[in-house]
Amino acid sequence: MELETIIGLEVHAQISTKTKLFCSCPTDSFGKAPNTAVCPVCMGHPGTLPVPNKRAVEKAVRMAKALKCALNERNYFSRKNYFYPDLPAGYQISQYDHPLAGRGEVAFDWNGVTTVCGITRLHLENDAGKLTHRGEASLVDFNRAGTPLMEIVTEPDLRSPQGAVSFAQELRRILVAADASDADMFKGMMRFDASISLRPKGDKKFYPRVEIKNLNSFKSLERALVFEEKRLMKLWKEGKAPDGEVTVGWLDDEEKTVILRDKESAADYRYFPEPDIPPLLIDAALVAQAGDVALPQQLRAEYIDLGLKPDEATLLIENPELKSLFDLVHERVKDARRVSSLLLTQLLGFLNAHEKTLADAPSADHLAELLERIADGTISGNAGKEVLEDMVVSGKDAATIIADKGMAQISDDSALLEIIDRAIKENADAIESYKAGKQAALGAVVGWIMKESRGQANPKKVNQLLLQKLG
Ligand code: ZN
Ligand code: MN
Repeated sequence: MELETIIGLEVHAQISTKTKLFCSCPTDSFGKAPNTAVCPVCMGHPGTLPVPNKRAVEKAVRMAKALKCALNERNYFSRKNYFYPDLPAGYQISQYDHPLAGRGEVAFDWNGVTTVCGITRLHLENDAGKLTHRGEASLVDFNRAGTPLMEIVTEPDLRSPQGAVSFAQELRRILVAADASDADMFKGMMRFDASISLRPKGDKKFYPRVEIKNLNSFKSLERALVFEEKRLMKLWKEGKAPDGEVTVGWLDDEEKTVILRDKESAADYRYFPEPDIPPLLIDAALVAQAGDVALPQQLRAEYIDLGLKPDEATLLIENPELKSLFDLVHERVKDARRVSSLLLTQLLGFLNAHEKTLADAPSADHLAELLERIADGTISGNAGKEVLEDMVVSGKDAATIIADKGMAQISDDSALLEIIDRAIKENADAIESYKAGKQAALGAVVGWIMKESRGQANPKKVNQLLLQKLG
């Protein structure tokens, strides 16, 4: 029997706002002392009133538009009730039967083929706190409690673990392009729950699925799915296909899943409408204000049209800071290949070598100026590299460095002619061979001139003047 793999994802992405979803506590508590970014609202004290964060709603709307989701004009928050020590109120404020957005889709590249995955819904909810287990004790930090999340649920349209990862990577690019989430996986800003089941090929119905909870990286998403796919395959072959849905956890270190519990159903959560928050109205004005997103697939095509390689285009799309620097320099210099070689090869290399980040990089104006000095022959391309490294280290601009180091190429005819005259005298043998018809002999003369001028003679001009002189 040939089996087919069916995968769907639930993605939680932290919305990039300064404050939490229902209070004004800061969201950037990464590295802060535990329980220092909290207030009575996000601690779920009775009598406090949650007020939705307008920026978070706007960003979720923009993301929903980027996913081509149908927006619901009226949507409601609901309480999702469960007890857990990291959930101070005893319920999560989420959305249930009236989410922000319904059906949409994402086109992504899978093995060179454009593939489409349906989106079931996108809704808003707040995050829980964090538990740390130390021996017998469990410690709880509520700094993250109340952080705004978008939950994006896909249709069961994915057909392999690798395809699921390709989809997730494209979704991450869209989150970044929409400025909806920083989607920094290392900081847990994008997390996955993956559902997987098998069915005989050709069968239309779905069989009970396994849900793998809380995967924090593309690598663990792929490995956990591969593991479950194999495990289910074996059960099917033995005639023991699962007859109920289960929830499992992925153990990164041991590279295996463990069964946590039978999968909970909506009824287990006793959803009811959140009585403290009025219906959220997504009207035309708000939809317009949220703006539109240039989709990564579209941007990639545009960069490739400009002359970039596909992986260079992807690098820009995945790094908004680098992309904006590229766009600014390109706007002035108009030569995508030269800008990409300066930024994506040389600049990133120097930043890395000197343990600096893009935040420390020279400004777009300074970088454009450097390219202009190379283009107009003030310095050679090779000298340009040296200037760039100095710009990264010292923060000075190109003109200052070129002047300080006396690096400007000698393009002035009279200065060059003086060196050329000496070169002809000092290299009489080579000149003789050249005159006897040995073209290559001229190379030695040019080399002598470059050495004599400490590399500052403009080689193009030297050739030109030398030929004139000898012709
Ligand atoms: Zn708070
Ligand atoms: Mn959720």
